[in-house]
Amino acid sequence: MVPTAETFDVVVIGGGPGGYATALYGAAAGLKIALIEKGKLGGTCLNLGCIPAKELLETASVFRAVAGAAEFGISTSAPTVDFGAVQARKQQVVEQLVGGLGTLLKRRKVTVYDGFGTLGPDHVVKVSGGASGDVELFGDAVVVATGSVPRTIPGFDVDGRLVVTSDELLSLQPLPATAAVIGGGAIGCEFASMMADLGTKVTVLEALPKILPGCDDDITKIVRRQFSKRDIDVRTGVAVTGHEPRKKKGTTVRFGEGETLDVDLVVVSVGRRPFTEGVLDAGTAVVIDERGFVEVDHLCRTPEPGVYAVGDVIATPALAHIGFIEGITVVKDILGESPVGVDYANVPWCIYCFPEVAFAGMSEQSATAAGIEVKVSAHRYMGNGRALIIGEPDGMVKIIARADAAGNAGQIIGVHMVGPWVTEQLGQGYLAVNWGATVDEVAQFIQPHPTLSELFGESVLALTGRSLHG
Ligand code: FAD
Repeated sequence: MVPTAETFDVVVIGGGPGGYATALYGAAAGLKIALIEKGKLGGTCLNLGCIPAKELLETASVFRAVAGAAEFGISTSAPTVDFGAVQARKQQVVEQLVGGLGTLLKRRKVTVYDGFGTLGPDHVVKVSGGASGDVELFGDAVVVATGSVPRTIPGFDVDGRLVVTSDELLSLQPLPATAAVIGGGAIGCEFASMMADLGTKVTVLEALPKILPGCDDDITKIVRRQFSKRDIDVRTGVAVTGHEPRKKKGTTVRFGEGETLDVDLVVVSVGRRPFTEGVLDAGTAVVIDERGFVEVDHLCRTPEPGVYAVGDVIATPALAHIGFIEGITVVKDILGESPVGVDYANVPWCIYCFPEVAFAGMSEQSATAAGIEVKVSAHRYMGNGRALIIGEPDGMVKIIARADAAGNAGQIIGVHMVGPWVTEQLGQGYLAVNWGATVDEVAQFIQPHPTLSELFGESVLALTGRSLHG
């Protein structure tokens, strides 16, 4: 039954990267699209995630550069931070991008509804509670892209004062003198790095044996060394159990085997959980699993025909660019273009702490654990001209190749990097891994000199058995 609702080719619920990518790409293919957003366009990424976090990390980087200017013969007084100005710049970048997204959606003729979307039977989505009023929409296809919210942990109620998540931290001014970051994943390490650079004494408390899961151990070692140089205390293998507010200021965090830590602020950074509250009415075949994720197949299709889900609300890597590619995949499926699914094992990961980390594919440890015989080469930034020029010689590029039948380095299955601007250098490593390229194929390509990317070329060349500078 098709109700008397406004009809679209695709109705998208949620205006974050997953949802807006579906809308923009679908509209570019000529589809008539409705996009429903209950908050701000751009979702977590633009408003409370990637963009504000990286903007603050850039502020930290500027602070470091000014503080270290004497090395280049530039005299300055010791830098200080105006947190009001810091927040104003961050917000200006966020608003420029959110505004630009609104303009782009309008230009592509995507109809944007301000309100809360709820999917019921027969592809009908009710919009309510926002500036667009109460309306019903029908979509030939419906895409659930409702994203995620920060996870919390028992014993640490978020009050915005003593205990915060990323949502609150990104707007905090000034930053505290001391902080405990609970969780040494990508976001936890980015926050630890940013706060330490801007003057906070940071302790990272991680329950697992290592920080930055998925990273090669050699890469993590370099991050830890750099963190330790900047007085960031990283404690691994310690679970937090609770905290006790102190009389005057701050709180005492309990962790490990009866240990305690007095800090002004606790930053809970233990991942995110899918957001599906109120999104589904009864009467659809969409399934939410026991962890709260919407269940989908390899093409993001739910069991309800014509209903898809993308982004953080499904159990795939919680990254903005994964939302983008899933949105593109869904549109291609709607158009009957038989897309291939995303290869989630080989997606690009970038972590913007100092030093930056970037990788795609297997680490040496995960390859070895999988029983793959590997050939590995690792090159340090210390020997790279550009790294010395910019004054950032601590870093490494590590290539993991599958050994071929003759025992030589064959297909590149992992590229792991740490050091200056590696988030901008991963591209060719990502391509090599996903193209299934061999060491011999990639080694013949030229790297411009002097660039940081020469390290990637050197590392691949070394795996052919003959290196240049390495
Ligand atoms: P979201 O961005 O969460 O968007 C979902 C949207 O749906 C929200 O706007 C929400 O208001 C809306 N919504 C929910 N329910 C409804 C409803 N019923 N009706 C209408 N609207 C609804 N990723 C990276 O790739 N790189 C990074 O550097 C990076 N840094 C990050 C840093 C931080 C601090 C955080 C928190 C995240 C970071 N991420 C990063 C992750 C990235 O932000 C998310 O993976 C991405 O935003 C997920 O996109 P999404 O569209 O699935 O969900």
